[in-house]
Amino acid sequence: MDYEVVIGLEVHAELSTKTKIFCSCINEFGGDPNTHCCPGCSGMPGVLPVINKSVIEYAIKAGLATNCTISKFTRMDRKNYFYPDLPGAYQISQHNYPICRNGYIDIEVNGNKKAIRIHHIHMEEDAGKLIHSDYGTGTLVDYNRAGTPLIEIVTEPDIRSAEEARAFLEKLKAILQFIDVSDCKMQEGSLRADVNLSVRPKGQEEFGVRTEMKNLNSFKAIVRAIEYEAKRQIEEIESGGVIYRETRRWDDEKGISYAMRNKEQAEDYRYFPDPDLPPIIIDNEWVNSIKASLPELPDARKERYIRDYSLPEYDANILTSSKVLSDFFEKALQHTDNAKAVSNWIMGDLMRILKEREMEVEEIPFPPEYLASLISLIDKGVISGSIAKKVFVKMFDTRKDPEAIVKEEGMEVVTDEDAIRKVILEVMKNNPSSVADYKGGKTKALGFLVGQVMKATKGKADPKLVNKLLVEELEK
Ligand code: ADP
Ligand code: MG
Ligand code: ZN
Repeated sequence: MDYEVVIGLEVHAELSTKTKIFCSCINEFGGDPNTHCCPGCSGMPGVLPVINKSVIEYAIKAGLATNCTISKFTRMDRKNYFYPDLPGAYQISQHNYPICRNGYIDIEVNGNKKAIRIHHIHMEEDAGKLIHSDYGTGTLVDYNRAGTPLIEIVTEPDIRSAEEARAFLEKLKAILQFIDVSDCKMQEGSLRADVNLSVRPKGQEEFGVRTEMKNLNSFKAIVRAIEYEAKRQIEEIESGGVIYRETRRWDDEKGISYAMRNKEQAEDYRYFPDPDLPPIIIDNEWVNSIKASLPELPDARKERYIRDYSLPEYDANILTSSKVLSDFFEKALQHTDNAKAVSNWIMGDLMRILKEREMEVEEIPFPPEYLASLISLIDKGVISGSIAKKVFVKMFDTRKDPEAIVKEEGMEVVTDEDAIRKVILEVMKNNPSSVADYKGGKTKALGFLVGQVMKATKGKADPKLVNKLLVEELEK
């Protein structure tokens, strides 16, 4: 039987406000344990929360950028559960009146466009972190992260494959970065996703029973977890078993998921309106002024690249997939007009080397103007395309200006006719059979001889000149 995979995502994004959600502690990743906390965010009795207005503003921004309706009335609820890194033994979250509802994000997979609906976005506080001792001597708790503002973006079960899940998350990440509400660093846990997944026979309308895998924090892990879990559920059903509604842990090292606990239902959390925080009334004026201040979003930027720089849609898609990347592209263009070349270098050599070195786009070691100057060196004929590739790697590794690299290493194109002719004569002397072939009408031999000359000059000779002079000498 043919099965269809059904996925809904719950994505947590840590907001990059200056301070935490209910106290004035600094909101910053890292720091010595328990140095970014106060009596409020470490759960001391008698301390009252006050909501950070920026958190509400950031959540509204996220809602507007994902086509949501912003609620006029919203409030915070208590979600009761004990967890050692949650000092209050409850989490302040939103249940019945989330701040944003009914949005969507457009995605594209293999040329197919589709909207993934967003059920709602709510605000909540993050928990602290447990540090399990490597020596088996116990567990320590660090409350620095406790009270970090989060938004949770909950999709409808509209996603049908790992590729669509990935496309959705990439698009969401780009949007949140463009509007500057979260750095979305997955390696630091600023963006993490819970994957709800079920399968059903193709054509069946009713959804199957779903499982939930929590806190996946890399695109790779999410894709692998989805593929594994879909296969597991199908095999289970095919062999006559049943799927239980449960929370499963994905073990990325082993590449398997296993049952963690039965899924608790909303009523298990005994949600109730938090009596320490008044409801929040949001007026249109505020929403409109936030709307007016929203920067250009990824899709708008993509259209602009196609229109203003005549880039193919493919290029524009990749460049606007990340704020860092598209800012890099635009900054390089302040120093060169050759947009297509900048795009090619970014999508080709730059992406390749980042992947090889296992680096993120945030870690590009050289400034965009260096890429522009590398391109100018090629456009002006100072270096050849193949030398440029070598300069690029040097520039990446040493962070040196490409002009300086070319000078220091004497990589300029050799256009000195006498010097090139000398090498040509040498090559002809060493390859008499190829010379004879050429003279006997096998013009293919020319390519081989050009290659030998380029090799002898370490790629620095001007290839056009080499061709011209070589033919001259051979025809003599
Ligand atoms: P809960 O509050 O128990 O986590 P929700 O109804 O809020 O459940 O849904 C949580 C997530 O699960 C949403 O992203 C939703 O799209 C997704 N979801 C709901 N039903 C299914 C299903 N049958 N298969 C896959 N995902 C589902
Ligand atoms: Mg849930
Ligand atoms: Zn605090």
